[in-house]
Amino acid sequence: MSENCIFCKIIEGDIPSTTLYEDEEFKVIFDIFPASKGHVIILPRYHAANIFELPQEITAKAFVLAKKIATVLKKVLGCDGINILQNNGEAAGQTVFHLHIHVIPRFKDDNMGLTWKQGQASLEVLEEIVTEAKKYL
Ligand code: AMP
Ligand code: ZN
Repeated sequence: MSENCIFCKIIEGDIPSTTLYEDEEFKVIFDIFPASKGHVIILPRYHAANIFELPQEITAKAFVLAKKIATVLKKVLGCDGINILQNNGEAAGQTVFHLHIHVIPRFKDDNMGLTWKQGQASLEVLEEIVTEAKKYL
């Protein structure tokens, strides 16, 4: 539990939310400003600001749960697709600094607009990245 963290307060029940599912390690709630019908966020009970701070075991379980929730939402809503996404850092669009995973049902022609301008890959740049990354992988 981290003081002044809105998601910790939701997990504790101090701030109201609508829960789809919960267990010992996670709470899955409906996003208050949904991108689409059925948009939920998966909150680990453990307070980690972002993916870098999340223990390995919880990280693994979180994605397994994301698959379960996505599968259930697909059945319940009959949506045509699902985005599973997770933002780390302000530059990446994170606004609440308690790690969470978005599960966003998608419908044909929903015009939600989760796209980006396509860039151009440079082999030289990619090779540089691989060389550097190998030091840590
Ligand atoms: P992010 O931009 O990835 O940090 O996402 C934060 C998400 O939390 C946004 O989609 C918000 O709509 C959602 N959110 C913020 N406050 C609440 C709340 N009290 N209950 C449910 N969802 C919330
Ligand atoms: Zn928190």
